[in-house]
Amino acid sequence: MQRALFSRSALLAQQAAAAAAALDGPLAARGAPMLQRLDRSMSSVTVPPPSCLLRPLEAPLRYLFGPGPSNVPPRVLAAQGRPIIGHLHPEMYEIMNDIKKGVQYIFQTENNMTIVMSGSGHAAMECAVFNTVEPGESVLVAINGIWGERVAEIAERMGANVHRMVKAPGGFFTNKEIEQAVEKHKPVLFFLTHGESSAGLCHPMDGVGDICRKHNCLLLVDTVASLGAAPIFMDKQNIDILYTGSQKALNAPPGTAPISFNDRACQKMFNRKTKPVSYLFDMTHLSNYWGCDGQPARIYHHTGPVSGFFALRESLAILSERGLEASWKKHKEVAAYLYRGLEDLGLKLFIPERDLRLPSVTTIAIPEGYEWRELLAYMMKHHQMEMTGGLGPSIGMVIRIGLMGYNCEKTNADMALHALADALKNCKKSRA
Ligand SMILES: *Cc1c(COP(=O)(O)O)cnc(C)c1O
Repeated sequence: MQRALFSRSALLAQQAAAAAAALDGPLAARGAPMLQRLDRSMSSVTVPPPSCLLRPLEAPLRYLFGPGPSNVPPRVLAAQGRPIIGHLHPEMYEIMNDIKKGVQYIFQTENNMTIVMSGSGHAAMECAVFNTVEPGESVLVAINGIWGERVAEIAERMGANVHRMVKAPGGFFTNKEIEQAVEKHKPVLFFLTHGESSAGLCHPMDGVGDICRKHNCLLLVDTVASLGAAPIFMDKQNIDILYTGSQKALNAPPGTAPISFNDRACQKMFNRKTKPVSYLFDMTHLSNYWGCDGQPARIYHHTGPVSGFFALRESLAILSERGLEASWKKHKEVAAYLYRGLEDLGLKLFIPERDLRLPSVTTIAIPEGYEWRELLAYMMKHHQMEMTGGLGPSIGMVIRIGLMGYNCEKTNADMALHALADALKNCKKSRA
């Protein structure tokens, strides 16, 4: 079996070599000796080239109407396709400086310590916790969906003393509850999710920063799913550490994650006794890489995702041109339009209070008598459309519809509603 596969891939390689040799031009001339070298080395390899890689890449066009990633506008895709430059070239520093200004705008902050993680939203979560907390210190985590659960685990893994305040998905915490818990556990860090995408809840933020300040605790807020879709004001709301991700309402490809620390957070993280557990996420190095530490030279720490930064810069440019307020308004309007359509289909919104709904990710209760996986599979198969089920504690409770940034249009809401109506009509009601 293995031999048959091997000889087939060898044959394909020969065909590729023949095709390359048949090509005219300097590239072909350079390509032919390379392929010959490859051919000669074939005898010494015991693991053959995988036949799957001799087929062209297939990435279908899909409507990404789940909680992320969302579709990426052509302008951002084009930016990502620009030729690579070095991560330490002056042009790259300028691009990184532009990105920093863009992140300060979308976070509504003047914090100098504003950078982008080379990694997904989780990289920012870990960076925030690893740098501001030392082993044995108390951390308080608000859990009303999966994101609090994740942060609690991250903090536990690095040796923090973690206290959880827990509500069922869709629940939220009053300022009184938060203050009581902060008084009781005296945490150095309190974590709250602004846009709880696993439940579709947008958590009220007013006053939380003041409570944390009063009790000498840092406030860490996750806006991966909400940034650009719902208002957040890092400085005005006294948020000490804020992060987001590239692939939700910002409509960039996954893989980069903006994060900002204010002076209180810098005080704590740059006056620690122990080094953070992660070298890659150590803010002493990252602040230099992003030109935030006042040093004249940036020293090599790691190679940032150059193309990812091109794409992120373009997505920040789009949001800057459009304006944050216009973007918030649009998300609210399209979400309201979607709510009406869902109710017309007889579906029940999972978050009853309209003001607490997350405009970027709408959750509906699973319609009675239906198997949610069947509905989602039907829409994927017949409409090339992604919606998703719950995540973590909300699994089996909700279906999630994301219309974020570029996807946030009434025409897309109509398409989502049409696909849902079709699925409801054609998916058999389960026997139960
Ligand atoms: C998607 C999401 C994350 C995680 O982001 P990744 O890029 O998948 O690591 C974190 N928090 C919230 C609220 C999210 O919606």
